[in-house]
Amino acid sequence: MQLSFCDSPLDHAGLQRSDPAWMARQRAHPQGRAVLFAGGSLALADDGSPMVLPAGIASGLALKWPGLIFIGLQDGAPWFAGALEQDVAGRGPDFRMTAMHLPPELACIFGRARSILMWSGRRRFCSNCGAKNEPIDGALRLACPSCGMEHYPRTDPSIILLPYSGARCVMGRQPGWPPGMYATLAGFVEPGETLEAACARETAEEVHLKVLRTEYVANQPWPFPSSLMIGFLAEVEDGEVRPDDDLEDARWFTRDEVRDLYDGVMAQWAPKHFSISRLLIERWLGRDAGATS
Ligand SMILES: [Zn+2]
Repeated sequence: MQLSFCDSPLDHAGLQRSDPAWMARQRAHPQGRAVLFAGGSLALADDGSPMVLPAGIASGLALKWPGLIFIGLQDGAPWFAGALEQDVAGRGPDFRMTAMHLPPELACIFGRARSILMWSGRRRFCSNCGAKNEPIDGALRLACPSCGMEHYPRTDPSIILLPYSGARCVMGRQPGWPPGMYATLAGFVEPGETLEAACARETAEEVHLKVLRTEYVANQPWPFPSSLMIGFLAEVEDGEVRPDDDLEDARWFTRDEVRDLYDGVMAQWAPKHFSISRLLIERWLGRDAGATS
């Protein structure tokens, strides 16, 4: 299964982008394009498609600080991203809904663009001294002229896991989810933790089960706003599932129950390729029903 937001076509040009002359050439590149956002969603053109303009035109629009950000090269042509100062265009639906149905390459490009825009939009002032930051390297780096601190776009590592024991797995649901929806467990990695320790802690906190063994499966950039989801299957001790207060419910599921759920009521909510949660579930379902690993 090809996951959304993976296998990006972008070259981030890490070796070139610190050269101001090179960056100036990219900003003047005749094939340069810019994707525009409005309030965290894609801005829409008159025909309802995502607003992608020649970079030269986009740079003349009223954009939020720091203006157009370089996000990479696709087949040698630069991509930029910007956030409209005002809603001069239509605003698309919630980006998560839009991204589900984008072509894979555009999902990668727009997802990276959104993560970086969300980061820079909250870093106008230095978090160390409060002075106004200055964008450098195509605005992929911010430098404080007062204290010298440099600020880089951040990615938050998160673990996402499917606990299982024998032929059953555990899934949970959060309040506010559509009726009948259940999914894997997930949480941010805390300072000082390994990924495996984060899996054990989250499982203990959320469903009060003990992890015996974790197995890494895959990872996925998740631009909501800027996480890296690191996916595991986690063998746990059999026992009573006691959901944490943050969960509305959590319980054991047999393989048949999981298939019925995902082929039935949940099939309408997201395409299979969209989330690593589904990949973990498919990986576990694909194993021999009698296997314990
Ligand atoms: Zn500073």
